[in-house]
Formats: sequence, C-alpha cells, structure tokens
Amino acid sequence: MIEQPALFFGLWQLLDILAVAIILYQLYRLTRGTAAIRIFIGVLAIYLVYQIVDALEMRMLAEIMGQFIGVGVIALLIVFQQELRQFLLLIGNRQVMGSAPKWLQKWLGRAGHSDSNPSPWTELKEGLEECRRRQLGALVVIPRDADPSTVATGWSAVDAQLSAALIVALFEKASPLHDGAACIDRNRIRWAGGILPVSGRMDLPSQCGTRHRAAVGISEQTDAVVLVVSEETGSLSFVHEGRLDQGVSFDRLSERLEAALSVASKATDQ
Ligand code: ATP
Ligand code: MG
Repeated sequence: MIEQPALFFGLWQLLDILAVAIILYQLYRLTRGTAAIRIFIGVLAIYLVYQIVDALEMRMLAEIMGQFIGVGVIALLIVFQQELRQFLLLIGNRQVMGSAPKWLQKWLGRAGHSDSNPSPWTELKEGLEECRRRQLGALVVIPRDADPSTVATGWSAVDAQLSAALIVALFEKASPLHDGAACIDRNRIRWAGGILPVSGRMDLPSQCGTRHRAAVGISEQTDAVVLVVSEETGSLSFVHEGRLDQGVSFDRLSERLEAALSVASKATDQ
C-alpha cells in the first residue's frame, strides 16, 4: 500500500480538528449562560473519557459507554430542544439572510420587508414613558419573522391601532390584561395579556424578576425585539436575541428599534 505523504495527512487532520473546534465553540456559545451549559460540559467529559477508555482497549467499559453515548444523542436532542429551536430560527434570520443575495431573499419572500417603513415608534415611546411616570410595569413584544403567539399562551386578541393611550390603558393595574405581554405588529396592537416563556438563564442580573426573564425568554425562542419598563425602577430595557440591555434611553428608542428591525432590509439595499 502506498503511504500518503505526512503533509497531506496533517492538513486533513488539521481541518478535522478545526471543524470540530468550530462546532464545539458554536455549541458553547449557544448554551453559554443557560442551564444547558452544564449538560454540554458533562457530555463532552463523558465523550473524552470514552475516547480514552476506547484507546486503552478497556472493552467492557467502552461497550457500556458506547451504548450510553448512542442513546445520549437522542437524549441530547430532547434536552437541547430549546437551543436547537433558537439555532434553527436564527439560521433563517437576519445575520444569515441579511447577507444572502437579493434574488435569494426575493425568492424567499424576504426582500422589501415592510419593517423598513417608518413606524409610529413615537406613540410606543410616549406610552412607555407614561407607564414609567405612573410606575406601571410594561412588557411589549415586537415580532420580526417568527410568530411569538405560537410560544406565548393566554393572550387575548386586541387588533387595534397603536397609540400611547392604549399602551397605558393595557398596562394600567386595573386592566384585566395588564399581567402579561402585549404584542405590537408594526402600527397595530395585536394581542395582550400573553404569558411568555421565562428564561432560566443564570447570568442575568440578580434584580431581574419574571417580567425581565419573560422578555429574555421570548427573545431566545423567536427573533422578536422586546421592551420592558420596570415597575420597580422605571428603567427601560431593550431585549433582542437573548441579550438584555437595561437602562436604555427613551429618546434613543426609535433609533434602536429601527436598527434592530430593519437590518435585513438595509442589507438588501446595499
Ligand atoms: P419589575 O422590574 O417590573 O418589578 P421584574 O423583572 O422584577 O419586573 P416581577 O416583579 O416578577 O418582574 O414582575 C411580575 C410581573 O411580570 C407579573 O405581574 C406579570 O405582569 C409579569 N410577568 C411575569 N411572568 C410573566 C410571563 N411569563 N409572561 C408575561 N408576563 C409576565
Ligand atoms: Mg420585580
């Protein structure tokens, strides 16, 4: 048998290691800050031990661990359900789609997305500012492509023109819909009183209660932008793709919303 040159082997091995390193890093990034990171590290440790046991030809142990790893793949799919869902949602999302050729975006119905149209963010800003003045908590979901109503429960349809007064009315403590989130689709309030999935992240600031965790939760599972006015501190938070930005200025809200909601459309114009 002709031996392949050492350099050839070295190159493929290097590519192999690089590919595995990239996959592991992406998995780590996806699970960082969630409870799943412990499972990820645990699985990695078991796999490494399995490789050592296999290399040392400890047959019985290798056999048992091999079986465990085989079933483990299915278990992982179940355990990482949320992360996988988030990952798949992000694939079709703005970072990837924003850089896709215009014809592809058009074909997929993404080009000319009306998110780039000027929206009445002033009404929303005024409504949220009034909530702060009245010491009301507010939670507003602004969807992009994924429909948040599929992961929210208990919401009531509103379907009304967005106005500052209506925002305040919805989050007023006497309102039957104030407990929960409102969903705004461009210039209409679609629904209110929605219970969102709460994030179990451990790296969120300790003062974050369930309202902020719900905002992070829905932003992890969909590509929506979420705004929170804290009932306790009156501070405005901007939440997107699992990132919680607290203490955002009300005056810069429109700018930030435009930036977060129109990236894909801008990318197609370039
Ligand atoms: P704040 O800074 O306004 O106090 P917080 O992050 O500390 O917010 P809590 O004090 O726990 O959160 O807020 C409780 C309120 O958050 C509830 O009364 C309800 O209106 C809202 N809330 C809690 N969980 C959810 C959820 N899963 N989905 C939507 N809204 C929620
Ligand atoms: Mg609180």
